[in-house]
Formats: sequence, C-alpha cells, structure tokens
Amino acid sequence: MAIGYISHHDFQLHDMGHHHPEQPARLSAINDRLIATGLEMVLHRFDAPLIERELLDAVHDSDYIDAIEAAAPTDGIAWIDGDTAMNKHTLTAARRAAGAVALGVELVIEGKVKQVFCAVRPPGHHAERHRAMGFCLFNNIAVGTLHAINRYGLERVAVVDFDVHHGNGTEDIVAGDKRILFCSTFQHPFYPHSGYDSQAANVVNTPLSSGAGSKEFREAVETHWMPRIEAFEPQLILISAGFDAHQADDMANLNLIDRDYHWVTRKLCEQADKTGHSRIVSSLEGGYDLHALARSVEAHLKAFLGEH
Ligand SMILES: [Zn+2]
Repeated sequence: MAIGYISHHDFQLHDMGHHHPEQPARLSAINDRLIATGLEMVLHRFDAPLIERELLDAVHDSDYIDAIEAAAPTDGIAWIDGDTAMNKHTLTAARRAAGAVALGVELVIEGKVKQVFCAVRPPGHHAERHRAMGFCLFNNIAVGTLHAINRYGLERVAVVDFDVHHGNGTEDIVAGDKRILFCSTFQHPFYPHSGYDSQAANVVNTPLSSGAGSKEFREAVETHWMPRIEAFEPQLILISAGFDAHQADDMANLNLIDRDYHWVTRKLCEQADKTGHSRIVSSLEGGYDLHALARSVEAHLKAFLGEH
C-alpha cells in the first residue's frame, strides 16, 4: 500500500527571513530527495487542507487562536517570540500544517492508507495551549491526536517525539490525559529547558546528554518508550518527526545517523502492526541540515515500506 504524503505549496511561502534555519528550502530538499531516490513513485500525494477552527479549539485556547490571527501581518514580518515570526502567508501555512495532520488521521482511520507523512511548515511541537514559541504556532500533532479521539472515538493514542528538542507544547496539551501516551527523547540540558522533571503519569520523557548518539538513543527507546507503548496498546501512533538530533545538524549536539531514524520507525511500525491496523501518522518538526534532513526523511519513509 502507498504511503500517504500530505503537503502544500503554501508551506513554501511561510518565510521568517534570510538566515532563519526554519526555511522553505527544507521542504524542497526533502522533495528533491524523494524524486532522486524514486520514493516519489510510492507516495500517494494529498494537498493539506485548512484546519477547521473547531479542531484548533480542541487544542488551543480560543483567545490564543484569535491573537495569532490578529498578529498576522499583511506585509513584512511580525515577530511572535524571539525566534518565531509570521509573514503574510504564515497563517495560511499554519492552518494547513494542522490540517495536514488532521487529514492524515482521517486517511489512516478510514483505511485509505496505513502510514502518512506530513511534510509541513511551520512545525508544531513547541506550541503550547496558549503560547507560540520555537518556530511553532499551532500544535499540529496535538490537533491530530485530539481529532482522532473526538471525531473517531479512539480511546488510546500514542504520540512519540524524537526531535532533539523536548516537545513542551505537546506535553502542555496532553499531560494528564489518560487517553494519550506521550513519549519524548531530547537533548538535556537544552532548549526549551523542560521535560526533565515532568510528573504526569502519561508522559515518558527521556533526556539525553549532549554528545549522545545511536547507542544512547536506541537504549532510551528500547528501555523507556517501547515497554510503555506496548502496555498502552495504542490504536494509533503519531510521530513528531524532528530530524535535528542528526550528527550533521548544527542546531544541537546529539549524534544520530540516518539509520537511527529507520530503526526507530521500524520499531514503531512493528508496534502498530500488532493492532492489526498499522496506523501511523508522522509530521515533520525540526531538522535543519538540508542534506541530513532529506536523507533522514528518506530513511523514515523506507522504514514505512519495510525496506532497508
Ligand atoms: Zn527541534
């Protein structure tokens, strides 16, 4: 079965200015790689729709959504926090990024595809219930999670996050919600300086020290994530797929390689297969070295196909 691939040209128009690492070229690099490797042939492409307001309201405070809408500039760049900005195309891109994950959830639950990758910008996992930060405006993965629960009545949804940064926004939104299990690996101490002291029973945070690589990451996944995910028996797995823990990525100091993304994806696929549905929806978060990002996404998607 083909892999669902959800993206949109509007994501390329969201631009926070020259030299901002979260740049339109990230998606071009991924796209070029998919064409060069022939992976393009096994993708079933969908355009990311605009998110319905009701689905955003399930995740963010209404006042916060209004404030983001009001902050959207008609010209130039409006800074929302120290490293997060909007141009005149950003609001539409953010609505489509959240819409992509919601559509991904619909596609896998309705059985149209088994796995979906959402190639989106802006990313989402730092966006809290009422705060934008870290390049993120709306929490795309949380929108998909709550959509699966509210519209389709799923009772157990796992969200895993292997971005190098802790998914503070996702934790803020899902902590304490027993229908959701949230697992995150991240460099610590490091931005956003959260996650190392979490108390919520449904949150499995695994900090990794600066310099950690494949061995430490795989041990963390095997020891901390997988037993919890297995016991939880999720009906759907969502992935906050950030690739900035790659050794080539200057954003941080972890040393993952392309194969690690293949490995962790296979682990999650094997778990998803146990439900008989194999449902996975993955959404792009970080990843700023363009070559490493493109190769890592390739490894991630090949793992969906069961390829080595
Ligand atoms: Zn990141």
